Amino acid sequence: MAAYAAPGFAQGALPHATRREILDIKRNGSRPSAKGPEAWFTGTVRVDPLFQVGDPTRLSGGQVTFEPGARTMWHTHPLGQTLIIISGLGWVQMEGGPIEEVRPGDVVWFPPGEKHWHGGTATTAMTHIALTESLDGKNVDWLEKVSDEQYRK
Ligand code: MN
Repeated sequence: MAAYAAPGFAQGALPHATRREILDIKRNGSRPSAKGPEAWFTGTVRVDPLFQVGDPTRLSGGQVTFEPGARTMWHTHPLGQTLIIISGLGWVQMEGGPIEEVRPGDVVWFPPGEKHWHGGTATTAMTHIALTESLDGKNVDWLEKVSDEQYRK
């Protein structure tokens, strides 16, 4: 027997009036910028955390700025990842494919488990917003560095 779902609500979700939720506005300046760890990135990278809501929500968001030449290590995401390019000029690559140039307004999707990297170009910085869902508390598996030879191709 199907559970009752009121119009506008996902099946199983409680009507708004019975939820105890607060409006959560994360204020600019409340989450300090951090240097991207050397274990995850090559070059100079700044990470500005945006949000991570927690169970049952799986989605987290961060803004990442890559100086020229900076990039992630090769990595995969168990549930994939969306990047929204917001400034500069960047390079992204999925293993076995070409390096693609990405610009502000471009939206990039890496499917679950696909090995890839993202970063600035050799001469220009790039900033993106990364939206990533977690599976069993994990949203990324880091692999080896993107070598200079791979990056310059
Ligand atoms: Mn990624």
